[in-house]
Amino acid sequence: NEARWEVDPEELVLGEELGSGQFGMVLEARWREKRVAVKMVKEEAMSEDEFIEEAQVLTKLSHCKLVKLYGVCSQRNPPCLVLELMENGCLSDYLRARKGQLSPATLLVMCLDVSEAMAYLESLKIIHRDLAARNCLVSKNNEVKVSDFGMARYVPDDLYTCSMGSKFSIKWSAPEVINHSKFSSKSDIWSFGVLMWEVFSEGRMPYEHNTNTEVVEALATGLRLLRPRLAPDALYLLMEGCWRQKPGDRPSFAVLLHELASL
Ligand code: ADP
Repeated sequence: NEARWEVDPEELVLGEELGSGQFGMVLEARWREKRVAVKMVKEEAMSEDEFIEEAQVLTKLSHCKLVKLYGVCSQRNPPCLVLELMENGCLSDYLRARKGQLSPATLLVMCLDVSEAMAYLESLKIIHRDLAARNCLVSKNNEVKVSDFGMARYVPDDLYTCSMGSKFSIKWSAPEVINHSKFSSKSDIWSFGVLMWEVFSEGRMPYEHNTNTEVVEALATGLRLLRPRLAPDALYLLMEGCWRQKPGDRPSFAVLLHELASL
């Protein structure tokens, strides 16, 4: 039901800019007495069809650890998404700004939040394809939620193949994604391992001193990111599990969620 998601442009009062990304600008706004975030697409960055596709994926999803979509305002030019306002911004900036202030227990809860959202997506056979701390947002009460479904797709099996695009984050990508563009929930798990590393490194860039090419070569010889100082051994073991060469040897989000919860 498309009409259910249509937001009347008259009801939308736009405010300050919250941030901008590769695809467009995000503004704070008021909508029906609520503070919301409005995401507009940069016209040259993404086609209107791609944008509507992102919306379409989101309208079918509902989970407390996914950034909520309230509606789409397609009568505006450019069209925009009306989203749950996440007052503390993106997770990577949040971590960097609070270096030295977050306890390992708090960091673990952040990883748990993300794993809950991802276990939900996995159960629906939805692949995120661009999971990273920069694509998670933090709420007013410091809950972490998964966002940025620009790349997410429904898949018939749990494997999706597509040609290599440019919107591609090598340092978060599993080897089979880099080499054969084979996306799956198991490649999301690899990215999640990198995200856990980012969280416990307080927002550091993974492999910060290496180029993409160097990273690809190092991974092929079995090298992996090192244990962040704040990460307990048991947690680093889970990260390593996410980075097993063969996708089938990595855990599912359903299993990982329980292992994280038991730490
Ligand atoms: P990108 O296009 O780089 O993936 P986005 O366009 O989704 O990123 O978001 C750009 C920035 O806007 C984010 O880093 C964040 O600071 C802000 N932002 C995005 N969505 C929201 C939201 N729902 N609530 C608050 N801020 C947001």
